[in-house]
Amino acid sequence: MSENRIAMVGTPCEIMAASKLQHYTDSPIDVKLGLFCMENFSYKYFENLLKEYDLKMDDIEKFQIDKGFVFLLLKTKETVKIPLSIAKRIIRKNCNICVELTSETSDISIGSIGSSDGWSTLIIRTKKGEEIVNGAIEQEFIESKEFTESQFNLLSKLAGNKINKNLEHIERREFLARPVLYQRDKSDDSILGEITDSNFSDLKSNVIDVGACVLCGACEYVCPYDLITIDDTKPNMKGECPHDCHACFTVCPRTFIPQNLRNDNSKVIGDYINVLSVKSLKHSQGQDGSIVTTLLDYLLTNKIVTEALIVDKQDHLAWKPYAKLTKDIDEVVKSGGTKYSVCPVFKPLRNIKEEVD
Ligand SMILES: Cc1cc2nc3c(=O)[nH]c(=O)nc-3n(C[C@H](O)[C@H](O)[C@H](O)COP(=O)(O)OP(=O)(O)OC[C@H]3O[C@@H](n4cnc5c(N)ncnc54)[C@H](O)[C@@H]3O)c2cc1C
Ligand code: SF4
Ligand code: SF4
Ligand code: SF4
Repeated sequence: MSENRIAMVGTPCEIMAASKLQHYTDSPIDVKLGLFCMENFSYKYFENLLKEYDLKMDDIEKFQIDKGFVFLLLKTKETVKIPLSIAKRIIRKNCNICVELTSETSDISIGSIGSSDGWSTLIIRTKKGEEIVNGAIEQEFIESKEFTESQFNLLSKLAGNKINKNLEHIERREFLARPVLYQRDKSDDSILGEITDSNFSDLKSNVIDVGACVLCGACEYVCPYDLITIDDTKPNMKGECPHDCHACFTVCPRTFIPQNLRNDNSKVIGDYINVLSVKSLKHSQGQDGSIVTTLLDYLLTNKIVTEALIVDKQDHLAWKPYAKLTKDIDEVVKSGGTKYSVCPVFKPLRNIKEEVD
């Protein structure tokens, strides 16, 4: 058993990778804080799109997506609006086949949909998640109020819209190219059969080369022979896979999903214990209600976890995300705010793996 107990933050696809790591390996991830996610963007294409508005990444103080627009809050305090119908062209290809809005396999999911300004929507999924939220309320890290029926209806409607739109996309893609493996309904036994026949070349042909890779980095982290490296756009492999290794194919969130993690898309926000509107009583510089920052503060302060796996921005490249592990609450606070592009979130865990080895 790993001695590290890590709380991670991630989008639904990254949380699925974490859940598969927990299912198939001795994972150091203990608490999963999942974000809502309608779509994500390519950093490079975003830079190019900004040029059309005479802007650079560095001009931007905060990004926000709301009511059909990407809002760019500039350092000059002006606001620029880009219609999502235009921003659509910079959405990562893999997001078009994603049918999950709310990080259904997390312990706690957090987003803004449904809640009023300054408040966040929080979905408690597991007993562990429930204990954390109750503890954070008792210790006055956060306050909560009821999530009303109309708020719930809005969240369900948007989650349903995402599922329906992208199921249509999956149908078109499957007609033209390969099956979208993570949407295949298979028994655990038959998944095991598929896995034992698969290695990196199957990951490449079924996920990476067909625009399904979410660039989470789980394959790179799990490879016992360090054959995989992730550049800015995709995982690459150098070397030869031993015939008995299937680790990368097994944990990838875009290959088959074990039965206990699968949703047949009939429950639009997945299984849950409770949904609340919540607000931080400690922090205010986050994206919405600063709830992710505050829950990580609560978890580290109370030593419920040993470290937090977060996504910060690079100092030399404005808004370019990178993942890091930290015990330092100031670092967690600094990493608040949403970066609308991707990075291999599991990369920092490689150091832990090396320590354990
Ligand atoms: C790509 C993306 C799309 C999103 N789309 C929606 C949406 O459609 N609807 C909605 O309601 N909410 C969406 N969210 C979630 C929303 O933007 C906030 O992250 C969420 O409401 C939590 O806000 P907060 O103030 O509690 O977080 P904060 O306290 O500001 O903490 C944010 C945390 O998010 C992590 N983070 C930031 N960027 C990334 C990233 N790219 N990948 C992984 N982790 C990251 C950081 O580690 C930080 O700890 C999206 C988030 C992302 C990353
Ligand atoms: S695949 Fe895209 S839309 Fe889906 S959770 Fe990941 S980043 Fe968000
Ligand atoms: S050695 Fe295993 S984990 Fe590494 S690339 Fe090959 S199949 Fe994947
Ligand atoms: S191929 Fe690797 S980086 Fe891409 S989604 Fe699968 S595990 Fe993540």
